[in-house]
Amino acid sequence: MKAYIKTYGCQMNERDSEALAGMLSARGWEITQNENDADLLIFNTCSVREQAERKALGKIMHMKKLKRGREHIIIGVIGCMAQNHGEKLFQELPHIDFVLGTGQLHELPDLVESLREDRKQQALLSNSEAVLTGMGVHLFDGMNSIFGQVAITRGCNRFCSYCIVPYVRGREMSRSEKDVLNEIGELAKHGIREVMLLGQNVAAFGLNGVITPPPDNVSPFGELLAKAAQIPGIERIRFTSPYPTYFTDRLIQVIADNPKICRSIHLPLQSGSNRILKAMNRHYTAEKYLEIVNKLKKAVPGIVFSTDIIVGFPGETEEDFCATRDVMNEVGFDNAFIFKYSPRPGTVSAKTADNVPQEEKERRNQILLADLAERSLAHNRALIGTVQQVLAEGPSSRNPARWCGKTSTAKSVMFAPWEGIKIGDLVEVKIARASSMSLFADNIPDLPEC
Ligand code: SF4
Repeated sequence: MKAYIKTYGCQMNERDSEALAGMLSARGWEITQNENDADLLIFNTCSVREQAERKALGKIMHMKKLKRGREHIIIGVIGCMAQNHGEKLFQELPHIDFVLGTGQLHELPDLVESLREDRKQQALLSNSEAVLTGMGVHLFDGMNSIFGQVAITRGCNRFCSYCIVPYVRGREMSRSEKDVLNEIGELAKHGIREVMLLGQNVAAFGLNGVITPPPDNVSPFGELLAKAAQIPGIERIRFTSPYPTYFTDRLIQVIADNPKICRSIHLPLQSGSNRILKAMNRHYTAEKYLEIVNKLKKAVPGIVFSTDIIVGFPGETEEDFCATRDVMNEVGFDNAFIFKYSPRPGTVSAKTADNVPQEEKERRNQILLADLAERSLAHNRALIGTVQQVLAEGPSSRNPARWCGKTSTAKSVMFAPWEGIKIGDLVEVKIARASSMSLFADNIPDLPEC
């Protein structure tokens, strides 16, 4: 029997899908990438943006045809959209067999078994703490990656006014430190060299859902990072996404003291206007954000930043937009995910008129993207002539004669492989050329135009 899992949305969903694939594999299911071949089709959905929901709905609608003449096929919708719309999905998608919310994902294998014996539509939507420990499974079978993901928190208590996550992923819960470290240790034993720690607010790890950030000398997340950095075999640790104000002095110190913690921090800004930050229910000002960035820059020379930005939030004026642009320039982000605001039903900001015209949102988006491209190119060019340490990922998909890898600062580097090099090696290469997206080592004989 074959199972197909399609994932929409964020890295948390990717990680959940991997865990579910691991659980199904342990029950004898073969994981397939071919939907036409599958006896079980699972759609792990996202509700963060309307577009993601529409895309998933269209795809699942289309799956109806697979059941013609193959009635034994089981189709399920899981994750945020399942939690958001629940049993209503059966009206829109009558051919699906189950809806499984975010709090009971770990029950998927049992649910599928029960459906194979007794076919009736089922919706499981309650919240359970068991999902925390139940999802620590990995698909080790046939694994040949050096990258691993570990979810350390689930849910969020921050209720940013535009965000649906607290409603669909539930209240914030942290796994135990021991559990997380054991999982990372297991990954390391299976050849994982770089681990990504995941959570909606990853830096709130170990704070038991208290939304006030801890005092400056405290950071349970920092303590976890420090211990993870001691695990043999793990060479790099990344994390996403941390809410800015959880960057206490202790967390900054841990990052500074542990070079295995990558020198690229994703720090969601959302807006550089204090007025808009307040309307977003983001509990910091642009000044506070810059203070954290400057502390990190001082403690960790060479650190780079990426961020999330929303343009066109209700009431965002040209002045507010310029404030965002100014903060982005001051931080000097290497990368940014820029979103045009769209209201999500059920959130606080959806009650306010979405009054920035679409064309204006697009204009602001394009301005920030152009700034970003210019800045990335300048940052990358500044690295020409330097020697960079790269975690070798293997042949490039575009040109298998070249290998690619990443620096600790998350910059992609192309280089020519040499005899004896292995995937997962930390190697040093000298940078000869740069584009806004990539760096090119001096051992590439025919350097590309860029
Ligand atoms: S901190 Fe992130 S996940 Fe939580 S409500 Fe705000 S935007 Fe959503």
